[in-house]
Amino acid sequence: MNAAQSKGKGNGAPKRRGLLLVVSAPSGAGKTTLCREMTHAVSGLQYSISYTTRAPRAGELDGKDYFFVTEAEFMKMVRQEEFAEWAKVHNNLYGTHAGFLKRTMDGGTDVLLDVDIQGAQLLKKRFPDGVFIFVLPPSMETLMERLRDRRSDAPEEIERRFRVAKNEIRNFVDYDYLIINDKIKDAVRDLESVILAGRLRMTHADQNWIREQFLK
Ligand code: 5GP
Repeated sequence: MNAAQSKGKGNGAPKRRGLLLVVSAPSGAGKTTLCREMTHAVSGLQYSISYTTRAPRAGELDGKDYFFVTEAEFMKMVRQEEFAEWAKVHNNLYGTHAGFLKRTMDGGTDVLLDVDIQGAQLLKKRFPDGVFIFVLPPSMETLMERLRDRRSDAPEEIERRFRVAKNEIRNFVDYDYLIINDKIKDAVRDLESVILAGRLRMTHADQNWIREQFLK
């Protein structure tokens, strides 16, 4: 909520729907860390925990990093139209819960999503007012180093992710903002700025409130 909006609090305060903020990046760009940092750095922002059929990596927790489900459970949710989008990424299924998005945004809280480019393209159709952010590492070499440092994936998986990354990067033009994640501190500041600017967009303002307050 910006200053003008919070001033009206309790007195016909402007109503704003939560903003949809979509972050995509090739794996290894550091997007997960960045998104996690954001929920601490920015208030009024909730991270959307995806459903996946991928096995948890060491240290990952069900209900915190992902909701880890079986393929049968996932496909049941697909049939019941519980996903706002879903996609097959690196041979696993990933999906965003539609009910969670709706509840959170209807309640006025912004939602941050970490989805692949297929998911981002589907969400753009469904939420044209969303803010679409692309994160890149400073170079292809850094991307490879980061994939290797993760150590949690098998070498063939790392090679495959590296090849897929190149294809994903071809879609950079579909996004509104680019963040280069070289130093995490700077990338956090950049993403924070994008979120704060997104909140102030005129398309996102409560136009009825402006009319009532100033144009009556
Ligand atoms: P990872 O397995 O490394 O956690 O994620 C692999 C890829 O899946 C990443 O590009 C990540 O953004 C994407 N991803 C995670 N959750 C979702 C989701 O709900 N929907 C889609 N389409 N992609 C997702």
